Amino acid sequence: MFNLILFGPPGSGKGTQSEKIVEKYALHHLSTGDLLRSEIADQSTLGLEAKKYMDKGQLVPDEVVIGMIRSAIDHHQEAKGFLFDGFPRTPAQAEALDTLLEQNNASINVMLALEVSEEELVTRLLKRGETSGRSDDTNEKVIRARIVEYENKTAAVADYYAAFNKVVKVNGVGSIDDIFQSLCREIDKRTA
Ligand code: ADP
Repeated sequence: MFNLILFGPPGSGKGTQSEKIVEKYALHHLSTGDLLRSEIADQSTLGLEAKKYMDKGQLVPDEVVIGMIRSAIDHHQEAKGFLFDGFPRTPAQAEALDTLLEQNNASINVMLALEVSEEELVTRLLKRGETSGRSDDTNEKVIRARIVEYENKTAAVADYYAAFNKVVKVNGVGSIDDIFQSLCREIDKRTA
């Protein structure tokens, strides 16, 4: 199994690059943001609970997203590997993920961390908000709150994996294809 975390702040391009990576390497894409939005669309109890946090730009409680990831991994036992996008977002989620993977005799192979400046993130997210239909992308206050959550709670996840020498930083500014090539180079080094 090859398991990859695509890491970075909101708007750093995780979703865009994830689509390209899972296609090329035949990994199963697990995006907690997408899973949560699909729960909201279904108006499930979980979705309605999660929406309260998402609308404010806050993280959804750990137990909710960990439960979602556990069931997604259980349902895709046939996968050659997973690409985790938007997860883990707290050190507690990272520890839970390690335990879940261990139970499947697997582990995280690498975390690729996209680096983009804050002003570029806000510009990109407001632009995405014009067409994405995502209410959390149209309000600059909510966007800034998401970036603050990232700095306060999520950035530490990179330290967690750095302690295992698993983090590689990748410049997230440039053309989509150039960034994709940089990511592929790092993946190829580890899958060859
Ligand atoms: P972005 O990274 O652009 O903010 P996502 O789609 O990854 O977009 O996440 C949207 C929202 O969903 C987040 O602001 C947060 O409220 C919630 N969310 C997604 N993943 C997680 C997670 N792993 N833990 C807690 N909340 C999450």
